Amino acid sequence: MANIDFLNLNDTISADATELKAAAARVIDSGRFLNGEETKQLEKTMANLCGTKFCVAVSNGLDALRLIIRGYKEIGVLCNGDEIIVPANTYIASVLAITDNQLKPVFCDASLLTLNLDTSHLNQVITPKTRAIMPVHLYGTPCWDEQLQDFAIRNNLLIIEDNAQAIGAKASTCGINNDNFITGGLGHAAGNSFYPTKNIGALGDAGAVTTDDEKLATAIRALANYGSDYRYHNIYQGLNCRIDEIQAAFLNVRLQSLPKIIQHRSLIASIYDNDISNKAVVKPVIFSNMQQVWHQYVIRTAKRDELRSYLNVHGVSTDIHYPTPPYKQPCYGQYNSLAFTNADLLAHEVISLPVANCSEEEAKEIAAIINQFH
Ligand SMILES: *Cc1c(COP(=O)(O)O)cnc(C)c1O
Repeated sequence: MANIDFLNLNDTISADATELKAAAARVIDSGRFLNGEETKQLEKTMANLCGTKFCVAVSNGLDALRLIIRGYKEIGVLCNGDEIIVPANTYIASVLAITDNQLKPVFCDASLLTLNLDTSHLNQVITPKTRAIMPVHLYGTPCWDEQLQDFAIRNNLLIIEDNAQAIGAKASTCGINNDNFITGGLGHAAGNSFYPTKNIGALGDAGAVTTDDEKLATAIRALANYGSDYRYHNIYQGLNCRIDEIQAAFLNVRLQSLPKIIQHRSLIASIYDNDISNKAVVKPVIFSNMQQVWHQYVIRTAKRDELRSYLNVHGVSTDIHYPTPPYKQPCYGQYNSLAFTNADLLAHEVISLPVANCSEEEAKEIAAIINQFH
């Protein structure tokens, strides 16, 4: 019998443990716990990685998305009541960032091919109040194609990427501002997350905004620091959404492993793709023209509960991303009566298999166990 964790953070960071401890010691000895050199370095690395002119490191991924929308409001680009198109099957944080700012989420159903927002439905959900689209690169697959890009340009919409799950992913067509293909730099602004379970995790909460828009970046930097543009001068009724210097130091270590992390996750995905042959299971599509980063490897089956407990009995732990879509959550009672064919189906059928800490042998073993399921 196998004994495979879905995710084990001790394993995840053990390769970097010595360097992480040295990074902590460096920050402790420096006596500088906010806004120091580590934070500057992290911002430089993330801007380079995403191909953007600016990066503002912040407290977490939700705050990165909240601050983007709040920043656009402060510089007069978005207003209360404006609509933002968001996938119906995302994690709730995407939607919270919109409603926290008194804007309106307009849900768009998912594609069963990409498991991302179905860009062919955009026409059906746009209204005269639509000002932005929030593509979510769910599970590490870029939500980006010419249709989305053309639609945004034609209708003069902002593109706010939720890049929480896809740092380092590459789309199949370039972004709106330049010939950059990397998620986090495809649209007008992006929210990135370093939550510990994400592909690049801090040892606590952290996030970052990446953008080419200088006005927005400047507003966000002030908003995240009490709305202060210089000391004891407040131009906005701001927040405290700063990143800890110690988390920035950890991330400067972790980011060096990004190519290795992507390579490992892609290898596990390709083993599952080759080896899983059970007809009751639908595998995620590996797109040859993109770089997916496999934050999750998500299969589908009508016999979800049975397969999950069967895997559990055979020593394989799994997870569900996500059992309840945001529009069905109690906090969004006003949307509970909505229905989306594919988002509802996915909520009932998806299972996430181990990826992060899974060896090649274990992935083969898991595939063999799944193939015996009937
Ligand atoms: C994790 C996540 C977030 C929020 O990031 P935090 O750092 O946990 O606040 C936002 N959107 C998606 C799609 C996520 O997976």
